[in-house]
Amino acid sequence: MIRRMTNQRLKIMNYLKKVRTHPTAEQVYEEVKKELPAITLATVYRNLHLLADQGDILKLEINKEFHFDADTCKHQHFICRKCGKIIDIMDKDLSEYALEKVSSKNFKPECVTIIFRGICKNCRR
Ligand SMILES: [Zn+2]
Ligand SMILES: [Zn+2]
Repeated sequence: MIRRMTNQRLKIMNYLKKVRTHPTAEQVYEEVKKELPAITLATVYRNLHLLADQGDILKLEINKEFHFDADTCKHQHFICRKCGKIIDIMDKDLSEYALEKVSSKNFKPECVTIIFRGICKNCRR
């Protein structure tokens, strides 16, 4: 299915694809407005949530804030409870195992969000 993307949405998407920092809407806005000075935070916010609802990007709610990730393929996240850093864990098998494990005739899960919480290397020192 081809979905029409507005130029603004495309720019937002392209920025997200470039980074692995899981930015918030505010952070995306700060970057995207360098290229599109007329864009508003409300527009960025709306587009990010739309993209997430369509499954084009991931939306992670962490400490009551939304973070966005263009990588929707099978990876997991580790969140440091001290500094709030979000770190990608690229273990495809883990997600596949989880999906398979709960898969039954009652439900057919297509994606799984796995979030680990703990303390990162920097904060452990
Ligand atoms: Zn930390
Ligand atoms: Zn990620």
